[in-house]
Amino acid sequence: RVVDTAPSSPSDEAIERALRPKLLDEYVGQEKIRGQLEIFISAARKRSEALDHTLLFGPPGLGKTTLANIIAREMGVNLRQTSGPVLERPGDLAALLTNLEANDVLFIDEIHRLSPVVEEILYPALEDYQIDIMIGECAAVRSVKLDLQPFTLVGATTRAGMLTNPLRDRFGIVARLEFYTTEELAKIVMRSAALLKAPIDASGALEIARRARGTPRIANRLLRRVRDFAEVKSNGGITKDVADAALIMLDVDTAGFDVMDRKLLEAVLYKFNGGPVGICNLAAAIGEPEDTIEDILEPYLVQQGYLQRSPRGRVATASTYRHFGQSPPATLEN
Ligand code: ADP
Repeated sequence: RVVDTAPSSPSDEAIERALRPKLLDEYVGQEKIRGQLEIFISAARKRSEALDHTLLFGPPGLGKTTLANIIAREMGVNLRQTSGPVLERPGDLAALLTNLEANDVLFIDEIHRLSPVVEEILYPALEDYQIDIMIGECAAVRSVKLDLQPFTLVGATTRAGMLTNPLRDRFGIVARLEFYTTEELAKIVMRSAALLKAPIDASGALEIARRARGTPRIANRLLRRVRDFAEVKSNGGITKDVADAALIMLDVDTAGFDVMDRKLLEAVLYKFNGGPVGICNLAAAIGEPEDTIEDILEPYLVQQGYLQRSPRGRVATASTYRHFGQSPPATLEN
């Protein structure tokens, strides 16, 4: 996958960190969440209390980690970061929790992947700032209650539906991140280009934005690839034409779909005759796990109207047919 949605290499991650906005004011888009957080953060600060536990959900690359960092900074507290699969044993989480200072933010990425035994530890921690831990071995084992400092859990997940009910119920703030508009992404590209000292004009930024699948991480990644192209193939300046030529070379088509997007849509269209096709058959046909389809590929295609989810499976739309130069069947014309 040319344009993956996960940070792929250490240098990618370093650049990503450098491009991350640090304050709520620099965070582009997501107006509703930003407005809410501004109020909740300033109220919590006034009372010198921890912010309510916050759940952020939405596809990868939309700014959940960035927001967790911003929350900590705006609250003036430390951020401790971990992820669901990393916390294997209850003791791993207990160690993190007991080291938190008052009102700190604990960020757990992929929180839907916490193991049930670790999740158990979290409930009393979230509710009463207390944990029960077992010490000793065999016959001498006993349970000890430990008081924690008040803290804020910020959990991130790609799909809120994958959380258990008791965990979801313990979040006071639940925010769904939306795909970004082209204009918002163009703003992000202009800001990143300035930080990277890459010369770009508005038309170049707009072209990258249009083809970034509504996702800031992809916009930033495309910008860096287009910059390389511009340095080698033109005088370094990124215009619409340079961006277009670079994106064609990167196999990102005019709708912003990459090789994987097209593979999925073509499978629905040609292998399954436009659908409906069940997720399981689709996964087998394109050789990708169901999770990848549901979390990474499909949300943007559905949002853009190139794929529909029906009770019987995934279905191509008139736009899908047109995108691949076919005329849609009469039943889809409207
Ligand atoms: P997630 O945690 O949802 O996968 P990240 O927070 O890691 O996504 O965001 C990926 C990159 O996109 C970050 O490096 C950041 O530079 C950029 N980014 C995300 N959201 C925004 C935003 N609202 N404004 C500006 N840049 C953003």
